[in-house]
Amino acid sequence: MQILDGTATAAHIKEQIKKDAEKMIAEGGKTPHLAVIMVGQNPASAAYVGAKVRTCKELGFNSTMLHFETDITEHHLLDQIHQLNNNDDVDGILVQLPLPEHISPDKVINSISPLKDVDGFHPITQGKMLLGQPTFLPATPYGILLMLEHYNINTDGMHCVVIGRSNIVGTPMSILLSRNGKPGNATVTLCHSRTRNLSDITITADLIVAAIGRPKFVTADMVREGAVVIDVGINRIDDASKKSGARLVGDVDFDNVAPLCSYITPVPKGVGPMTICGLMKNTLEAAKMHAYVN
Ligand code: NAD
Repeated sequence: MQILDGTATAAHIKEQIKKDAEKMIAEGGKTPHLAVIMVGQNPASAAYVGAKVRTCKELGFNSTMLHFETDITEHHLLDQIHQLNNNDDVDGILVQLPLPEHISPDKVINSISPLKDVDGFHPITQGKMLLGQPTFLPATPYGILLMLEHYNINTDGMHCVVIGRSNIVGTPMSILLSRNGKPGNATVTLCHSRTRNLSDITITADLIVAAIGRPKFVTADMVREGAVVIDVGINRIDDASKKSGARLVGDVDFDNVAPLCSYITPVPKGVGPMTICGLMKNTLEAAKMHAYVN
């Protein structure tokens, strides 16, 4: 069994992104600039946003962080996004989800210019992805593809089972694994909360992507010997032995599943750092595009 080390893989890819950005700037291009919007005080969101802003700094990118109180109106938030869309120096815009209930995430996502949609959530971006046209890939599935590529895991002809059908992880992951491309060319089964006899399906998988949001949901009896397991879940559970009283676990029962696997991602330090890599690669591509257009 080999651990798919997200931290080490991300460090390697970030080094390449940094060099690529330096080359672009040396050739007269612009410094990539990511704008991050956060609404409210959700501690998990604050941690994700902090990591994204820190990574920008590490790569020599510019970043702008806009933090609004929970009572910001939808209209005001949309207006802020509009201003960022029209700001020629800003290459990528990211709105950290979830948003407060009075703000429609669909309206917010739809208001981001597809040219700056580095999280890959806009309907135009996702439509292009579906059709196999060049576009920004959603950051988490993109990060997982980068991880598979880095470890030379060939998904051609594999049966991949994706558990979870969200627009940001499960559904795009299923499309990308089944596309005619590399990594891709897999036969994909997309499972969700209404799937019957889930373990009968997962036990036949060569590769499982778990994106459910339930701690230790994928157990050893659901995984066949030699499978690749990618754990997207981030769940906070009580742990009295920790100073904070809690720790993070994935959607996979790691201790019991890992001995069965050929490869497995840990949580933390698995998919999380790769998601940031996907985002940064998209931001660099956006900057290249804008440098060319402007
Ligand atoms: P979501 O809540 O939008 O979707 C969860 C999916 O799980 C749904 O499609 C649902 O059908 C499915 N599901 C729920 N119960 C099920 C069951 N009993 N059997 C089968 N399927 C079931 O979640 P999401 O946004 O896709 O996120 C999933 C998890 O991944 C969360 O823990 C989230 O925090 C984590 N996440 C991690 C990263 C990262 O970078 N590591 C990025 C995004 C999300």
